[in-house]
Amino acid sequence: MADTRQDDVATAMREHVLLPAQEMARLGTATQPVLTHAEGIYVHAADGRRLIDGPAGMWCAQVGYGRKEIVDAIAHQAMALPYASPWYMATSPAARLAEKIATLTPGDLNRVFFTTGGSTAVDSALRFSEFYNNVLGRPEKKRIIVRFDGYHGSTALTAACTGRTGNWPNFDIRQDRISFLSSPNPRHAGNRTQEAFLDDLVKEFEDRIADLGPETIAAFLAEPILASGGVIIPPKGYHARFKEVCERHDILYISDEVVTGFGRCGEWFASEKVFGVVPDIITFAKGVTSGYVPLGGLAISDKVMARISGENAKGSWFTNGYTYTNHPVSCAAALANIELMEREGVVEHAREISGYFADALASLLDLPGVADTRAVGLVGCVQCLLDPTRADGNDDDKAFTRKIDERCFELGLIVRPLGDLCVISPPLIITRAQIDDIVAILRQAISEVG
Ligand code: PLP
Repeated sequence: MADTRQDDVATAMREHVLLPAQEMARLGTATQPVLTHAEGIYVHAADGRRLIDGPAGMWCAQVGYGRKEIVDAIAHQAMALPYASPWYMATSPAARLAEKIATLTPGDLNRVFFTTGGSTAVDSALRFSEFYNNVLGRPEKKRIIVRFDGYHGSTALTAACTGRTGNWPNFDIRQDRISFLSSPNPRHAGNRTQEAFLDDLVKEFEDRIADLGPETIAAFLAEPILASGGVIIPPKGYHARFKEVCERHDILYISDEVVTGFGRCGEWFASEKVFGVVPDIITFAKGVTSGYVPLGGLAISDKVMARISGENAKGSWFTNGYTYTNHPVSCAAALANIELMEREGVVEHAREISGYFADALASLLDLPGVADTRAVGLVGCVQCLLDPTRADGNDDDKAFTRKIDERCFELGLIVRPLGDLCVISPPLIITRAQIDDIVAILRQAISEVG
């Protein structure tokens, strides 16, 4: 099904589309590969090439491409009822999906609010924390604590909470209520043990709370793994220690599971089963529909809701919503996606194959230029440094890694370029043989470029 008008597509992209990461000096000149169709873990380019989708789109294509069950559910719902106002009308897909998600989330996170994607999910969670504290009669409790290297989205508020400082220049980001802690990157431990590094991270959090005053802090917002910030897996016990501090100071613990949710880490959600915490709020998106249509949301604990509803509501109205909240087609796609994941045991498969995946990436450590590999579930990366003793890559390392990514592409593998990292977070349906294919291409590319 090659698109014979691929040159027209490339031209229209260049002339009319503003990309989400656009080097402005090259506006109208950059060329992206044109994709035409996909199946399983493979995408096809307009020039006829078939590529392994190493990043599963943007960490989202859990069940892979061409899944008829999801496409049929989308078509059926679009024909039956494509839209209904979430302000006035109930529909079965939103109701059933919220009910289902409540069974998949840990603890008592049973109240679900649907959004249009990950940024709006996190934005809504943060707005909820404002609302919550206003209703509780403590309007000064509004600060949000986040980490350097965290990524939370592209709305004004979520961009302000994003600790990838490279995203900041030339946007007037208002960070007066936001406070950044150190990245929990184990490579930053220096000559400390991981336990000592963790103690220091917890102390920094405690000291910050003491400095700012717990009565001014609404929420701690954290990804279980800092995904876009560099596949950073915090030291063991980090989340449980931070949750304990939050509980002591009545600070909401918001776990941003936009990447880690829906099986990516080998569990439906990573917070409890992988990292040992039951958050107050979990945000999700991406894998909830395997990327077939946009959807995001948050799940809030009953305990939190009880404090501001019913006889505790004080006449308040929660007024935060989107035209596409509870979107019937998106919710129907998510239900079909989850049903398919359950029927095929996709989450169990991701869990079972995760050790093989981690070992396969680690087998590259014998190559000069490979400084580190890390993986949890099916999120992984290969860190490429010309000097492997450096903790983080410099511009030369990034150029080196970019060349590896380009060579992988020529050899049939899409790798997400992320600074000095080759990120691989494949569809969860990947087989051992396909993991071998990925690692063989990485090995060839790194050896040739190195
Ligand atoms: N939160 C995390 C952890 C993410 O990785 C992302 C996107 O990658 C977002 C939020 C924003 O999601 P979206 O791009 O769907 O708005």
